[in-house]
Amino acid sequence: MGAGLAGLAGAVRSVQRGAKVCLYESALRAGGRCRSFHDAKLDRTLDNGNHLLLSGNRATMDYLRTVKSLDRLVGPPRAAFPFVDLRTGERWCIRPSRGPVPWWICNRQRRIPGTTLRDYASALRLLTAGEAATVLACVGDAGVLFERFWTPLAVGALNAPVHEGAARLLGPVLKETFAKGEAYCRPRIARHGLSDAFVVPALTWLRDHGASIHLSHRLRALPSEGSRVAALDFGNTSVSIGEHDRVILAVPSWVAAMLLPDVTVPEGQSAIVNAHFLLPFCGADLFLGILGGTAQWIFFRDDVASVTVSAAGPLARKDNDALAYAIWQDVAKTLGIASGAPPPFRIIKEKRATFRQVPGNLKRRPGAATHLENVFLAGDWTNTGLPATIEGAVRSGFTAAQAALR
Ligand SMILES: Cc1cc2nc3c(=O)[nH]c(=O)nc-3n(C[C@H](O)[C@H](O)[C@H](O)COP(=O)(O)OP(=O)(O)OC[C@H]3O[C@@H](n4cnc5c(N)ncnc54)[C@H](O)[C@@H]3O)c2cc1C
Repeated sequence: MGAGLAGLAGAVRSVQRGAKVCLYESALRAGGRCRSFHDAKLDRTLDNGNHLLLSGNRATMDYLRTVKSLDRLVGPPRAAFPFVDLRTGERWCIRPSRGPVPWWICNRQRRIPGTTLRDYASALRLLTAGEAATVLACVGDAGVLFERFWTPLAVGALNAPVHEGAARLLGPVLKETFAKGEAYCRPRIARHGLSDAFVVPALTWLRDHGASIHLSHRLRALPSEGSRVAALDFGNTSVSIGEHDRVILAVPSWVAAMLLPDVTVPEGQSAIVNAHFLLPFCGADLFLGILGGTAQWIFFRDDVASVTVSAAGPLARKDNDALAYAIWQDVAKTLGIASGAPPPFRIIKEKRATFRQVPGNLKRRPGAATHLENVFLAGDWTNTGLPATIEGAVRSGFTAAQAALR
């Protein structure tokens, strides 16, 4: 149930393990929070939001390899994270070292400007963070490294301000990427859009492997008999669940809570705002981190510059024209072009982009198993140990499939 990345990954893994799969999705299109659409105003294919992956996201790479779309991701051959500080005009690029030893922080030329070797010891505190710690409490707010590295990393990965974000969720991200060396933290983005890389190839692969896909099917209820779900209730149709059938519920947390009131789910959602601008030229870089402005990251795809602002609660309440104007000033400054009125733009406010990734919500993330023996949970909000990301969603789908087929 649900054809976001968790549901798609669960379906793919189930088919790989020999199961016959029926995938149901309430929307007209699959992809959930990771999707593309044609924007008539800009006459371009846009994503609902920029999605950055790292080469160390092993479950996602496995999923893409299986559905034969790994080549639809692009990124630099070596890990590089360019930044600009709009207040000072300084620019720098983080280039992690090849192996697990972070030699780059020993080299004054390669370190983030204004930081000392000692500052980087704060990484150890994040790697061992307790469940109650926020990022701010863990790494402290003093120092340039906090402002130039931990803040953009934490706000981007957790979609939460540093004084709220759960430090515990950053440890696994660091361990699986930066701590393993440059080959594991190469940035990757979808060359022609999220649907082209993550969704369409999976649907094709699933159909080619005998799965049936049912869009516009909103699950309304899960009637149960004893400890088992007995049917899928779609309102005007109902599908009975046989003795050997299993249900993977890969819907958003609030839908899961409505369908299964006994399941505990994280409380609250956090917004992400994306602004897409049609440029009169093609952008050169792939992406760039921005400090000292409203914009946080800019991604370039051909002649579209797309800006991400995470933890964007107050911003998401602003009027679109005012937002576009404010964000465009940052883009223009970054590109060194005249500011003023923005070019044609599209603002997308995802008010429920991720669950609130705060310490109090960590215990509220359920595992795959439920009190019903034939129902399993998947979704980026379940207890993956990771932040709510594509990697978390895909891993949750794999875990649910494994549990369901055990
Ligand atoms: C703007 C934005 C930027 C992001 N940036 C990044 C990033 O840079 N890197 C990264 O890794 N992650 C990023 N993410 C997070 C990533 O998109 C999500 O973690 C992931 O897509 C979640 O997938 P999911 O399958 O768990 O949930 P969803 O995508 O929400 O999928 C749930 C599916 O269930 C369907 N559904 C709902 N109700 C029902 C029902 N009753 N019956 C049937 N189907 C139902 C929904 O329509 C949906 O398709 C971003 C998210 C957003 C919104």
